[in-house]
Amino acid sequence: MRAQPEASHFINGQFVESTEGRPLTSVYPATGELIASLHSATSVEVDAAIAAAKQAQPAWAALQPVERGRILRRAADIIRDQNQALSELETLDTGKPLQETLVADATSGADCLEYFGGVAAAVNGQHINLGTSFVYTRREPLGVCVGIGAWNYPMQIACWKAAPALATGNTMVFKPSEVTPLTALKLASIFKEAGLPDGVFNVVQGFGETGNALTTHPDVAKISLTGSVPTGKRVMASAAQNLTPVTLELGGKSPLIIFEDSDLDSAVGAALMANFYSSGQICTNGTRVFVHRTVLPLFLSKLKARTEAITLGDPLDPATQMGPLVSAEHASKVLDYLDVAVREGATLITGGARAEVAGYEEGVFIQPTVFSDVTDDMTIAKEEIFGPVMSVLAFDDESEVIARANQTEFGLAAGVFTSDLTRAHRVVAALDAGTLWINNYNLSPVEMPFGGIKQSGIGRENGLAAINYYTQEKSVYVECGVIDAPY
Ligand code: NDP
Repeated sequence: MRAQPEASHFINGQFVESTEGRPLTSVYPATGELIASLHSATSVEVDAAIAAAKQAQPAWAALQPVERGRILRRAADIIRDQNQALSELETLDTGKPLQETLVADATSGADCLEYFGGVAAAVNGQHINLGTSFVYTRREPLGVCVGIGAWNYPMQIACWKAAPALATGNTMVFKPSEVTPLTALKLASIFKEAGLPDGVFNVVQGFGETGNALTTHPDVAKISLTGSVPTGKRVMASAAQNLTPVTLELGGKSPLIIFEDSDLDSAVGAALMANFYSSGQICTNGTRVFVHRTVLPLFLSKLKARTEAITLGDPLDPATQMGPLVSAEHASKVLDYLDVAVREGATLITGGARAEVAGYEEGVFIQPTVFSDVTDDMTIAKEEIFGPVMSVLAFDDESEVIARANQTEFGLAAGVFTSDLTRAHRVVAALDAGTLWINNYNLSPVEMPFGGIKQSGIGRENGLAAINYYTQEKSVYVECGVIDAPY
């Protein structure tokens, strides 16, 4: 097996194997080749990982913040040095094309570690003057944090959770998705090489039940999940048992609104990026593309031509632009949506079926698909598909499109294309979403707070905002005068 890790788990600075847990495998989605065989953690490994994180936390928190930051920045450098190998591993684990993983996965994780490594020494409380007395606040770590990841950006998600948690003096137990278990283990050994003390970052593998064991553990002070809305609800309910705070990065059905005065080529480019990058398996995707009726025919003809030019193939081939979906099971759900769309009356512009890629018959590739004449009540306009399926909806005026864009239980992201500056800001202010773009789509630099509202989530990752979700503020009142008591 070409990507077999040293062991399934990484606990207290060591790779740990236990064959007691359920078997868990990783396959290369393009070929079905078994690339690694691991085991799920049992309660023994879960308890050991949490105990290690708990034991390591006070000393880690007591380190000078600048020293914690230096270790994170060293890890970022190692990731960049190993980017080629890490990207190939991520491609094998997820099926995403190397063209993407080389620039968007490990590298964005490195950016995050570098950013929070720099921020670590600048996390401070406040000083509040009260005349003869004053208050100061301390920003303190929470303790043992649990990170649980989805399968679409395994390395990036691990870094987005570990970097702010560790920078602020917490320790972490991370559980990757059972579908993509490999790069989190690499991250753990890179941290060790960078000088991270044992127990500060631990990885346990497993399915939902391992996630549940972590989220209900009494020694856990914080949970950060990236996953679907139903899982988010389950995690929040489990966390309620111990009143453990949660950050939830969940799904979406985001609108991308293209006004008649847009630079149409840029808008088409953004719509493509917003639907077909990572085979459409991105939470922030702008899957409801609202196009002003006057530019719709031209938009669709440009869109069709560029969509049909997308190259599908072996993800490890640097020329491939789109790979298979992450698993046959997930792909079959996406294929079902294509049937439903046609049945409900959407017009197929291009794609609409499984794609055959010679030599890769075991992988499930889906043609990049565009539907037009989509109406708000259609299933494909309401449900998160998580595949390469774009819905184009016509609109006539601004207030109408805002109301329709907001008519969803989700609120993760949104985009607006227009050359009217005033309209751009007016519309983003009116949209229900946590992460928005004007004249671009799907860029998430680490400096930008990231997250959703409504059922798309709670809390923010990245940016200085993330610090608030991994620390607690302790207030200290300091008396400098004489105490006057009424008794
Ligand atoms: P899931 O919700 O199925 O799983 C997410 C993680 O939670 C996995 O590690 C999963 O383990 C774990 N899990 C499942 N059940 C439980 C439980 N009861 N308690 C604790 N953990 C549990 O999501 P997917 O992996 O299928 O990812 C796709 C979803 O993630 C989409 O909805 C997408 O929108 C969302 N997402 C959100 C992002 C954001 O930042 N907002 C970014 C990326 C994706 P296992 O895999 O073993 O089942």
